[in-house]
This record gives sequence, C-alpha cells and structure tokens, in this order.
Amino acid sequence: MIEDSLNIIKGIAAAPGIVMAEAHVFRKTIEEVNDETITNIDEALENLEAAIERSKRELRKIFSLAVDKLGQNRAAIFEAQIMILDDPVLIETIKNRIRKEAKSPAFIVNNEISKYQSLMASSKEPYMKERSQDIEDIKNRIIRNFGKRRWKSRIENHVIVVTESLTPADTVLFSRANVKGYVTDTGGLTSHAAIVARSLSVPAVVGLHDASVKIQDKDFLIIDGYHGHVVINPDEKQIAYYNKKIQKINQYDSELSVLKDEKAITTDGREVVVRANLDLTDEIELILNNGAQGVGLVRTEQIFQDREFFPDEEEQYGVYADLAEKIYPEIVVIRVFDIGGDKVLPFGVKEPNPFLGWRGIRFLLDNQELFKTQIKAILRASVHKNLYILIPMITSIYEVRISHEIINSCKSELEKEGINFDRDIKVGIMIEVPSAAVMAKDFAKEVDFISIGTNDLIQYLLAVDRGNEIISAQYKEFHPAVVRTLAHIITNGKMGDVRVSMCGEMASDVLALPLLIGLGLDSVSVAPSLVPLIKKIVRSVSFEETKALSEVCLSKVTEAEIKSTLEEFVKKRLKVESENIL
Ligand code: PEP
Ligand code: MG
Repeated sequence: MIEDSLNIIKGIAAAPGIVMAEAHVFRKTIEEVNDETITNIDEALENLEAAIERSKRELRKIFSLAVDKLGQNRAAIFEAQIMILDDPVLIETIKNRIRKEAKSPAFIVNNEISKYQSLMASSKEPYMKERSQDIEDIKNRIIRNFGKRRWKSRIENHVIVVTESLTPADTVLFSRANVKGYVTDTGGLTSHAAIVARSLSVPAVVGLHDASVKIQDKDFLIIDGYHGHVVINPDEKQIAYYNKKIQKINQYDSELSVLKDEKAITTDGREVVVRANLDLTDEIELILNNGAQGVGLVRTEQIFQDREFFPDEEEQYGVYADLAEKIYPEIVVIRVFDIGGDKVLPFGVKEPNPFLGWRGIRFLLDNQELFKTQIKAILRASVHKNLYILIPMITSIYEVRISHEIINSCKSELEKEGINFDRDIKVGIMIEVPSAAVMAKDFAKEVDFISIGTNDLIQYLLAVDRGNEIISAQYKEFHPAVVRTLAHIITNGKMGDVRVSMCGEMASDVLALPLLIGLGLDSVSVAPSLVPLIKKIVRSVSFEETKALSEVCLSKVTEAEIKSTLEEFVKKRLKVESENIL
C-alpha cells in the first residue's frame, strides 16, 4: 500500500483536501526573559504601556483582516485577545509588581500571564487547553514588543506551513501568502487553527507529535487532509498516485455540484431529506450554496461559545430570526443549549465526569430562566413558521413533559404581551441516550419529531468516550448493538407516527448511508459541504436493495461482519465513492 510507506506520517485529518507544496518550517523565536533588577520604575512602566499599546494595534490589524476573511463570528477570537489586554485587574497587578519587585517588566509580564496560562493548560477540558494557547500568543506578543521587534510571519507564497502549534492569528496572517496547507505537532479537531483552516478551505493535518522535527525547510510535502497523512519528499510513484487522486476529486466535485438543486430520491422513488448542520452562523452561505434542504441541527451552544456570559433574549432573537429568514422557506431545527460534556462554556462548572453529568436538558431544567430566555427568543423568531425546537440529552418522559410545560408557559407570556409567534411550533427530541432509544415508541407519542444523535448514542451504548484517542478503536459505529438500536429507534419512532432523522456524524459516512436508508431513516443532517455527496449516494441506490442490505446487517453478530457486508455493497454499487474512502 502506498499509504504505508516509511516517508508517510499519520495524524488527525483536520481539514479536507489534498495538496502538494514545499514545506516552510515555522519556529517562533521566543524572546529571552531574565529577572534583572531595574532602577528606573517610571521608565519600566512607560515601556509596559507602550508594549501593550503596540500589541493591541497588531491585534486590531489581525482582527480586521480576520473579519474580512472569516467573518465576524470567528474573528471574535482576536477581539477576545484585545479584551485581555484591556483587563484593568491584570494590568494593575503587573504594574504593582513592577513597582514592588523592581524587576524587568518583561519578566513580570511573563511570570504573571504564565500563571493564568498554566491554570488553563492543566484543565482537562479541551476548550480551556486551547484557550491557554491563545494566552501564550498574547504573552509572547507583549514580550516581543518590549524589544520593538516584529515576528516574521511573512513567508513565501504557496508553501505548506509546518509548525509545533499554530495560533488562530498565525493562520489568518499566513493566509495572506496563500498558504496551501497546515501541518502541526499539536492540536485536535476542535483546535482553532483547525477551525480556521476548514473555513479557509486549506487542507490540514494536526496532532502529528513531531512533524516539525522530522520535516526540514524546503522538503517537498503532500498533505492528504481526508485521511490525515503527510508524505515527506514523495517519490515519483507517490506523486503520480496523489495527482491522480486530486484529478479524480476535482472531477467528482464538479459532477456533484450539478446535484445542488436536485432532491435525494432513491431509484425506486423514496425520498431522504438532506439537511445541513450549522455550528457557526457564517456557514449560512455554505448551506445555501450546497443545496441543503434546510438546517437539521443548529448547535446553539457553539454559536454563542465566544461570549463571556449567556447571550440575552435580544441577542439570541437576532441570530435565530436572521437564520429563519435566510433559510426560508426551508426549515431550521434549533437545538436548545446542549451545555456540558465536552462543550463547557468559559463560565461553565467543572465536573468529575462531565459526559455523565450536568448536561443538555438536565442543565436547562435546573436553570429555567436561561431555558425560558432561549425558548422565548426562538418563539419570537418563528413568525415565518419554519423554526423547530430540538431538545438534547433526553432520558425520561418526565423531562419531555416538563419541557412542554415550560414552552407553553413561554407561549402564554408572549401572547399576553401581544407578540406574534408560531403557535404550532414543532418540538422534537434528540435520541442519544440508550434509555430514550429503548423507549422510542413512547417518546414518539409525546413529540413531533425525533433526531438520532449517534455521536453520543454510540459513546453511551458502548461505554466509549467519544473524545478519547486512547480508546478510539473501540468507538464502533457498526457494532451490532449500535445497528440494532438504530433499527429499533427508527421502527418504533415510526410506530409513534413521527419522522425520524439523524444528525450525528454517522449520517455522512459513505459506508453507513446505504444501511441507514434501508433502515427507513426519513432525513439526515450533515456538514454543509457534504450535502451534494449524500444526495448523490441516495440517488444511486434503490430502497429495496438497501432494505435487503440492512436485513443482512441485522442478522450479523460482529462488527467485522457488518463492516465487510457494507464494504462489499459500496464497492459494487458506489464504485467512485468507495475509492475515496476505502
Ligand atoms: C450527537 O450526539 O450525535 C449530536 C449530533 O450532538 P453533539 O455532537 O452536539 O453532541
Ligand atoms: Mg449529542
């Protein structure tokens, strides 16, 4: 296998695409900081003010560039960095220490900001760890600005940047040089560099541990952002192999774009509605351009993740109304805050076992003011009658009934105030916990629709943490228990007369899709750029053949058997797609 050669290193596929270019190994020279004693305190304080001012000016520049390139929402990372530099408590503490200790301001800045940083770095939450990298960026920026030096972020055009870690600021600045790809030692799928790379459509492989040591400046690289592979100084055979892949992908992508306005209907006439997931508001354009039939999941906790406090009703209303208007006449399924688990907000609480803790609807029922604020904002934005409400982490009928009561009380309040809204707004639940899966029929009688969240359902069913790379091999979407549970939810949900959808990652897996169609899924919601591919697959198969396929899968008792059954089907019936994934 060409992918198993010795000159290939493997990491996490963070942004899709295949590119070839020269490496630019980027190492930040960190200024030396020592604790020399100073004699002129006033001068030191002036130097501090000047360094902070220069740092703010730089960040404002990066911020405005980021707004143009990435949109307001994602650029907010840099606004947050500027806010830290405006924090009077931090600045006063630094000034007081300079006065008291008479040490060089660079030393005090380094020491004081490092304290915050190590607190965040030691956090178990990936979100906090990522923030600690932002703090490193700010610290180094101020220290560098004591010496009035500039970082050399200007590099030659069209290179692949290889580095230990990337800050979001680096990623945006490098984009000026039309960087072709990113390779980093650290980071995961949730790191900001990965998010920025995805939104800039620049392929990236992260989490490679020692790529910046193995790769030398000017090495020729190939990045495969689909599989997380980096080829160092490829031979002719490897170049030819990847060139062929690039050609195929380009040709396939242009073929797919033709399907944009088509429906996903099987060859024997069964429609599967294909919607898109929305994690950030600036994805609306992408969703419209890719021909999604509405939004099947809005992760509201992600939209507001940059805020220091819970957004108020007005701010939420603005976001939901804008979404409803832009996506109209298609529908938008707004999931109420799924706080907790790995989605801890900056002001969230720490728990020993967050995935089994204060998460989703549990948190909302204990914080009803917050829940009601969100429901009212959604209701006010529902005047076009295209908004649905989705409730996460449901485990009991009680939680559904009390949620209905709360929604009804919000409706009454709005009515009293004479505010217009959709009185028949549809309310559905995520089925992502085994207890809800077992009782799918009973739940279906209480709600208007069901959306299966496989990301969590698999982790809770198999007792495998979805974010832990040590046991990632045990996270098996084709485990017979998973397949049978999905069949149970879909069949029983329909007995309760509701439409059953899926918004977990499994819905966009080429191998899984024929099985899901055969199990009778009514709709799927996937990443916006994958909508055309999913439509193509649905349009390539018949419901009858996928039904037979799902029956074979349901009779198997091991994951290996199910997987090979599906691989065989995909190889035979979806030849081109199987070449990209297998
Ligand atoms: C899921 O659990 O499958 C899901 C869609 O929700 P999230 O990934 O936000 O937990
Ligand atoms: Mg979930």
